[in-house]
Amino acid sequence: MTTFSSHSTPLSDFKNNNNGQMKNHKQRLNNNPAVDESNTSGVLTQMHTNNHEQVVFCHDKDTGLRAIIAIHNTVLGPSLGGTRMWSYATEADALTDVLRLSRGMTYKAAVAGLNLGGGKAVIIGDARKDKSEALMRRFGKFVESLNGKYITAEDVGISSKDMEYIRLETKNVTGLPVDMGGGGDPGPVTAYGVYLGIKAAAKSLWDNDSLAGKKIGVEGIGSVGYRVAEYLVKENAKVFACDLYADRLTKINAELGVEVVETEKFYDQAMDIYAPCALGATINDKSLERLKCSIIAGSANNQLANEHVHSQKIIEKGILYIPDFVINAGGLINVYTELHGYNESRALANTEKIYQTILDILKMAKDNDLTPNEASIRLAEERIEKIAKIKATY
Ligand code: NAD
Repeated sequence: MTTFSSHSTPLSDFKNNNNGQMKNHKQRLNNNPAVDESNTSGVLTQMHTNNHEQVVFCHDKDTGLRAIIAIHNTVLGPSLGGTRMWSYATEADALTDVLRLSRGMTYKAAVAGLNLGGGKAVIIGDARKDKSEALMRRFGKFVESLNGKYITAEDVGISSKDMEYIRLETKNVTGLPVDMGGGGDPGPVTAYGVYLGIKAAAKSLWDNDSLAGKKIGVEGIGSVGYRVAEYLVKENAKVFACDLYADRLTKINAELGVEVVETEKFYDQAMDIYAPCALGATINDKSLERLKCSIIAGSANNQLANEHVHSQKIIEKGILYIPDFVINAGGLINVYTELHGYNESRALANTEKIYQTILDILKMAKDNDLTPNEASIRLAEERIEKIAKIKATY
């Protein structure tokens, strides 16, 4: 195991590390090299860029395990974030992904008011071919070696069976099935939060949170998207959807009466609200050229292909964007609840706070001439900095 680490520091320290110059918030965000997707610098330099605390490289020749665990910030609590298994083209791609995702988890937890830091893990490999019980258990041992500083959960390419294997080697696992004391699939709670977040966006823009009659496009109807569509249909919104899987489209059309459109034609539809619930980076130069909508609000992680460029372009197009890490926090809230003995009503009650948080963020953005993305990051950083000061005293 190779570990690169720095002391746990409030994010404010990053403000001062640019030639000793304290920059104002907007400048700092605009200069934030987090957007440099072609970063080819060394690991420690990349960690320095976004102030990551620790990166752990895990290798096991016998099982073929190659994994990276990134711990971004633990001021608020232990870092928590899922493990993703993916056939990354290069190790550099895997590192970029885990650094980006772990940073997003720090902000997600902070804005949701959770006492959690941000972390994430990636296993390099094909989830359909390279998995084994031994590989998952070996990975679990690496998680255990961090003594609770990193708590894992499911992410893309990882199944509940894999989590059971990891759980055999470490207690630092969440998102377990209900019969193992967990909260089960976080998808339904995420969907509930996304639905409420869409309503908050409507309230902010139209001074009325009713979605009746609004034309809403749901891109991706998996675990989260299907349930988001269900809430929207119940509220008499005019919902249409696309997905890569024909059987999912047939099902949603038969069960909910949702109109189905071809994936290639999705962005050309006039719509009031675009709800991205598939994969990341769907808000990019090409999609923004075609999108005709008033609000973008959905569950997908890392929706903006380039955080600063596209959050700005969205504003120029007159679209209201609800930051992904704010609106999709329901899943994290659900797994966080497991740490204190799972209770569904507590998880749902905390998820309902997403509505007011979004209204507060949009007001803060308006009052301070920030994008909603910048306002959300500022809110997260302010909380982390305040709590860091509290923790600094005996
Ligand atoms: P999922 O795998 O169950 O569903 C994703 C769906 O998107 C699939 O049906 C897939 O076919 C479809 N899809 C993929 N690419 C597409 C494309 N180009 N066009 C149209 N459809 C496409 O995943 P999920 O759990 O529903 O998560 C959806 C998104 O929300 C992901 O980005 C995930 O990271 C994010 N998210 C999920 C949770 C959760 O609790 N599940 C929590 C937070 C964030």
